[in-house]
Amino acid sequence: MKIAIIGTGYVGLVTGTCLAESGNQVVCVDIDAAKIARLTRGEIPIYEPGLAELVERNLRAGRLSFTTDTGAAAGASEVVFLAVGTPPGEDGAADLRYLFAAAETVARGITGTTLLVTKSTVPVGTARRLLSLVHQRAEHPCEVVSNPEFLKEGAAIEDFMKPDRVVVGCQSERARAVMGALYRPFTSPDRPVVFMDLESAEMTKYVANAFLATKISFINEMARLCQATGADIEVVRRGIGLDRRIGPAFLNAGLGYGGSCFPKDIRALVNLASHRGVDLSILRAVERVNEAQKLSLVDVLRRILPDARGRRVALWGLAFKPETDDIREAPAIHMATDLLSLGYQVQATDPAAMANTRAIFGDRIAYSDDPYAVVEGADALIIATEWSPYRAADLARVRGLMRRPLILDGRNLYDPETVRELGFEYHSIGRRPVLRDEARVIGATQAQPEPAGASPLPLSLSA
Ligand code: NAD
Repeated sequence: MKIAIIGTGYVGLVTGTCLAESGNQVVCVDIDAAKIARLTRGEIPIYEPGLAELVERNLRAGRLSFTTDTGAAAGASEVVFLAVGTPPGEDGAADLRYLFAAAETVARGITGTTLLVTKSTVPVGTARRLLSLVHQRAEHPCEVVSNPEFLKEGAAIEDFMKPDRVVVGCQSERARAVMGALYRPFTSPDRPVVFMDLESAEMTKYVANAFLATKISFINEMARLCQATGADIEVVRRGIGLDRRIGPAFLNAGLGYGGSCFPKDIRALVNLASHRGVDLSILRAVERVNEAQKLSLVDVLRRILPDARGRRVALWGLAFKPETDDIREAPAIHMATDLLSLGYQVQATDPAAMANTRAIFGDRIAYSDDPYAVVEGADALIIATEWSPYRAADLARVRGLMRRPLILDGRNLYDPETVRELGFEYHSIGRRPVLRDEARVIGATQAQPEPAGASPLPLSLSA
C-alpha cells in the first residue's frame, strides 16, 4: 500500500518505519526541514532502541522516504496518517492547530479515494470535525478513521510490531478492510484489531492513559502512607501485584508520571469533561498527587540541606523514563528547575537526554557522560531515572567521591541495608529512610570534609 505519514516525531517515525518494514511504500513528512534533511541522510533525530537499523534498512530498500511536501505525499498515497503533535493549550485542552493545518493541506493534495487516519491523540469529536473539513476541501472521496497509538517510548518498535490490540474507529466496510489489511502483519487472534465507532476510538486512548496514570498516583499515595506507618511499599507492591485481579504493571512507586502523553492527556480529558458538565474528581486527584510527587525529593533535600549556598546536587537521569531522550514533563527537569531557583548547583548526567536538557538550561547545569564525574564533590545524589547503569553502579566508588554521602533515590534502585552498610544516608520512596547517624561510617572511603560557601565545579564537568 502507498502510505503517507504527516508528522515525523516519535510516533510518526516509528509508525512509518514499521509500516515500511511490513512491505508498504511509505513517505514520512514533516514541516521541520532540518529534521527531514537528517533523516534523508539516515540520521535519526530521536533516541529509540532499534529504530536506526530499521530506518536504514527500509531507506536502502527504497520503501521509506522523507519529504517536507505534505500535498505531494498525500497526492501519491491511498492512506494518510496524521501523527503531528497535539500539545496542551493554555486551558489544558489539546491544541489541534497543527492537526488541522496538516489536514487542510492533505485534503487539498489528495488525487484519488483516500483514508485520512488520525494517529495523534485527539479529543472526542475531532474525527467528525476532520470529516466536515475534508468534505469542504477535498475534490476526491476521503474517509476519516481514528487509529490512536498506544506505543511506549523506549519500546516503541516492539509495541508497534506486537501490539496488545489495535484500536480502529471507522464508518465503512472499505475502511475496515484497508485498516485490517494494513495491520494484518502485526496482529493475531490474541492481539486483534478492535473496530469501533469514531468517538469510542478517540475516547479509548484517553481512558487507557487516564487509568495508567491513576495506578501511578495511587501507588505513590500509598507509598506516602507506607513511609508514615513504617511499612515498605516495595513489599506491599509485590503483595498486591501477585493478585491477578490487580497485576504488577504500573505499580512502581517513584517520582510520578511525566513524558509527552500522560500529563497532557489527563489535562485534556479533565478539560473535555468539564465542558460536558462531568466532574472527573478521581483524575483531578491523580494530577494533584502527581504534582506533589515530582518535587517530593526536593522537599527532603531542603529539610536536610536548607542552606543551598555552595551545595552541589548530582542528578542521575534526565529523561522521563529509561531508553528515551524525551524530557517533556520529566520529573528531573522539574527538579532541576526548582533546585536552580533555590540556589543549589546542579551537575547532571543521562545516557541519552543531555542534548535536549542543554537546550533548556544551557550552562546553568554542569554535564558529564560519566555518572562518577557528576558525583565528585557533590553534597547529594538524586536518582531521577532508572537507567540500568545506575542500578548497577559502584556505590563504594560513589561514596568515596561525594562530599556528603547522601542519596535521594526517586526510583527505589537500591537495597536500604546495602547503602547503610556503605555509609550512606538514604531516602527513597515509601520505604523507611536510612538516617545520617544510622549510616555505617567506613574508614578508608570517608566522605570529604564539607567546605562552606561556593566552590568551583570539578574539572571533569562541562558547563
Ligand atoms: P513529536 O512532537 O515527537 O512529533 C510531532 C511532529 O509533527 C514534529 O516533528 C513536528 O515538526 C511535526 N509537525 C507539526 N505540524 C506539522 C505539519 N503541519 N505538517 C507536518 N509535520 C508537522 O510528537 P509525538 O510524540 O510523535 O506525538 C504525536 C502524537 O501522538 C501526539 O498527539 C501524541 O499525544 C500522540 N502519542 C504520542 C506517544 C509518544 O509516546 N510520544 C504515544 C502515543 C500517542
